[in-house]
Parts: sequence; C-alpha cells; structure tokens
Amino acid sequence: MRGLYYSLNQFLKERFGERVQKVPLDAGFTCPNRDGSKGRGGCLYCNAYGSGTGAFREGLSIREQMLRGMEHMARRYGARKFLAYFQAFSNTYGPLEVLRARYEEALVDERVVGFCVGTRPDCVDEAVAGVLAEFKNRDLMVWVELGLQSVHNETLARINRGHTFEDFVKALEVLKARGLLVCVHIIFGLPGEWHLEMLETVKTLARLPIDGIKFHELYVVRGSGMERLYREGRYQPLTQGEYADLVAEAIAHLPPKVVIQRLTGDPRPEELVAPDWARDKAGTRRLIEETMLNRGLYQGKYLE
Ligand code: SF4
Repeated sequence: MRGLYYSLNQFLKERFGERVQKVPLDAGFTCPNRDGSKGRGGCLYCNAYGSGTGAFREGLSIREQMLRGMEHMARRYGARKFLAYFQAFSNTYGPLEVLRARYEEALVDERVVGFCVGTRPDCVDEAVAGVLAEFKNRDLMVWVELGLQSVHNETLARINRGHTFEDFVKALEVLKARGLLVCVHIIFGLPGEWHLEMLETVKTLARLPIDGIKFHELYVVRGSGMERLYREGRYQPLTQGEYADLVAEAIAHLPPKVVIQRLTGDPRPEELVAPDWARDKAGTRRLIEETMLNRGLYQGKYLE
C-alpha cells in the first residue's frame, strides 16, 4: 500500500521483489564548473569535495569501493541486491571510453542490478546517453541524477551553476528518448528565493517527464562561497519547520508516479557550518511526515 509518498525503497521493492541498497562511489571524476572549462569556483554552496569522499584519489578502486560498500550494507541491512551510485562530482564528464570502463567496473557481480550517475545537465548529450543506454539495454537499471536546484535562471546565475533551466530540459529530453530513468536534485533555501519561487520549481517539474526527485535544504559548508555570505550576515538558512512545510507542500504537487528519492540533505558533520538542524535527518523526515499528516497532504493531492 502506498504511504504519504512514493519512496525509493518501495519503487525498488516493486521492481526487484526485495530491498536494494545504493552503494555511494567516488569514481575519480571532476566537474566542469571547477576545472576551468565552465568555471573555477564551483557552485556557491559546494566546496572542493564536490560531495565526494576522495576514496578514488586515495587509491581505492571502484571495484574495491563497491565490494566494501556491499559487504557493509549486507551486514547492516541484510541487502542482497545493490545499485552502484556514482555520486561525487559530474559522473558523465569525461571521454566516452572512460565512462564506459568506470560504469563497467562497478558491476562486480550479479548482485549489482544497475547504477545511478549524478551529473550536471550540461554534461549530458546524445553520445553520453548512448553509452548509458548500452547498460540499460543489458537489463540493468540506470538512473541519471541531474542537478538542477531551481528552474529560475536568475537563481542559477546567482549561485554560479554555469547552466540554465533550458540546458536541463534539453538533457531530460535526450535521456528520456533513450528510456533512461531521470531523478532531479533540487535545493530549497537558495539565496534570493522565497516560498513562491521554490514551489514554482516543483510545479514546473511536475509537468515534465521526470521519474524521481531529491529534495535538499541549503546548508552552508566550510570552504564554500555560501560560507562567506553567511559569515557576513548576508544569508539566513531556512528553519527546520519552514523546510518541512515546503517539502510537505511540494510533494502534494508531484504526480504519484514520481519516486521521492530523498527528503533532506546529508552534510558531513565536520564540514557543516549552518544550520545546525541539518545534522538531524531523522527529525526533519519525521517533521515532514507529521506536517503532511496534520495538513491532510499526500503525493499528487493538488493534481486531483
Ligand atoms: S555542486 Fe556539483 S556541479 Fe556544482 S561545483 Fe560542485 S561538483 Fe560541480
């Protein structure tokens, strides 16, 4: 039975008949918004880690990361099936043969039922989609996780994303034409945005053929451009309650078939500057669910 929203666990259980666990990987990719081809400073909220662990640079191969992650998750959750998750930086940014080889390396044995690649919309084209489709056509599940953050081009420029909403729409079309699954990442609390703009992002996405979405609160990390703004008193993060209200409301605008892959961000504790509540993932999740229950909200409510 469906709960308040369509979770990733539920989606994977329906597809594979059992729990499937994602194994995060740092596959040694870089980012065009950091290496100089688009920009050098990166997005305003990102620091030099680019959500990565640095494992690849420390000499841990993709295969080793995968085997270790699978062992850990088998012990912790009893999982027997896995999806490789290429998480750090832009995982479709590189020569096609390098992409192909790195994706292949993650398929360590038949327990790996597919993979997810996190990337930027401007790092997706026909050729990249073609490589990803080769894997999908081998009966593997392939998700592409596109970082969009906001549909508003003024916001994207303000946070130095280096791409536009139109770039995102183009990437989405190319990926959907190959039958690939697309999950969009968005951020609530970006500088210069209010509730109206944030919900406008979700309403716009609700009209597009996306398969999944990840919600994140904007948190300030050490070494990012946001840290400077925050320390100068020019940025105030959302409160936990404001964020929970926004996500609860946003979910009600989304079609029931869109998989809600994530409700909150996941900062490294040692990097987090603010807000403090970003450490409390379980509490935020609980608050979102309570808000939905109290307000009679559920996924797709506003589309009925
Ligand atoms: S957030 Fe992603 S796209 Fe932006 S600079 Fe960091 S790694 Fe690059």
